[in-house]
Amino acid sequence: MTNPPFVRPGTGWPDDPAGPDTPVAHRPEDVAALAADAPTLTELTARQSVCRACPRLVAWRERVAVERRRAYADEPYWGRPIAGWGDERPRVLIVGLAPAAHGGNRTGRIFTGDRSGDWLFASLHRTGLAAIPTSTHAGDGQRLIGTRMVATVRCAPPDNKPTPAERAACRPWLAREVAEVAGGVRSIVALGGYAWQSLWPVLGQAGFGLPRPRPVFGHGAEVELAAPGGHPVRLLGSYHPSQQNTFTGRVTAEMLDAIFTRAAAPTPA
Ligand code: SF4
Repeated sequence: MTNPPFVRPGTGWPDDPAGPDTPVAHRPEDVAALAADAPTLTELTARQSVCRACPRLVAWRERVAVERRRAYADEPYWGRPIAGWGDERPRVLIVGLAPAAHGGNRTGRIFTGDRSGDWLFASLHRTGLAAIPTSTHAGDGQRLIGTRMVATVRCAPPDNKPTPAERAACRPWLAREVAEVAGGVRSIVALGGYAWQSLWPVLGQAGFGLPRPRPVFGHGAEVELAAPGGHPVRLLGSYHPSQQNTFTGRVTAEMLDAIFTRAAAPTPA
């Protein structure tokens, strides 16, 4: 029997949340149904990690996993969606756009295995939100402290550009995950303008009180939101630590540290 072009659930990949019996979404309607009735956050992440609802993205993530970049030619690629990862009761929630083809799609962990992730985890470690300064692969000892990371679209898209239909299809995974953790979250960091824009409908669906008009994205933009339980939640905008932004100095280590220091600071009761 030939191997599938992705890691088969429950075959020993470190931190694989899914098993052979995890239900698989094949259509956007399945995503909505499976996100809604997942009994726990653990099961929700397991279901996210085996989703096949977007044909274009499934084909792309599996093609990349087979063709591979030369530097990783001897490594197996994850080739599946990248589920939310980190503390199950976080105070800080970090939201990115989508995983990278040779980063998360290779390592199976969000923001892991690419330059953006290197910058991000180094900053999280400096600001007390990650146990070690690097995140290289599942099972490397990295651990987020009071923090969780999620992507608005969970599969690596061609050219890093998911279509509006793919964003909409994936939204129920994020909306349910945000609703699950909303009781404890005090800060949400949107990494990049796409994540900032994508968050509004999700936060509305999760029961947050939202400002009108919607605040404009920028690095250091800060908005106070009312969580479903009534407590204040600080929404922070951060430029994405993409290679382009870090190479050009648009994003520096100090700028990222300032965002995560602010995210970790206590909010009013
Ligand atoms: S992008 Fe989201 S909805 Fe689409 S296949 Fe990936 S996990 Fe499923």
